Amino acid sequence: MEKKQIAIEEGLFTIPDSPEKKPYLIGSKCNICSLVTFPKLTVCPNCAKKDVMEEIQLDGEGTIDTYSVTYAALPGFKIPSIQAYINLNAGPRVWGLIDCEEQDLEIGMKVELVIKKFKEDTNGNEIMSYLFRPCKPSGKMSRS
Ligand code: ZN
Repeated sequence: MEKKQIAIEEGLFTIPDSPEKKPYLIGSKCNICSLVTFPKLTVCPNCAKKDVMEEIQLDGEGTIDTYSVTYAALPGFKIPSIQAYINLNAGPRVWGLIDCEEQDLEIGMKVELVIKKFKEDTNGNEIMSYLFRPCKPSGKMSRS
């Protein structure tokens, strides 16, 4: 049986079919007030109107607003586990895990979306999740 890549949850992000392609978060945009949300919604939280949200793809680039480093991680998560709120360039503030070393973390750091294997299921399929990683090395390595 062919092994597949399966999203940890449907409707949150796209899984690129080749490494050169960018992944996207699946969000929504209100066609009345232009509010952008992630995850996608059917009711606009600003207008309180139903069926005004259109599905859109968000490029997943943003900056770290604040973060927390956890040394007691949930099963399946590496320790330390870095969790952050990210202000996406597209608008929404989202929660996510950061794939980098603790010493490289910085508030205001630019991050991008990355889709990675979280675990394998019993059939060997790769269960994929989304996280964020620094866009470029932070340059802190030159610090002594
Ligand atoms: Zn709205």
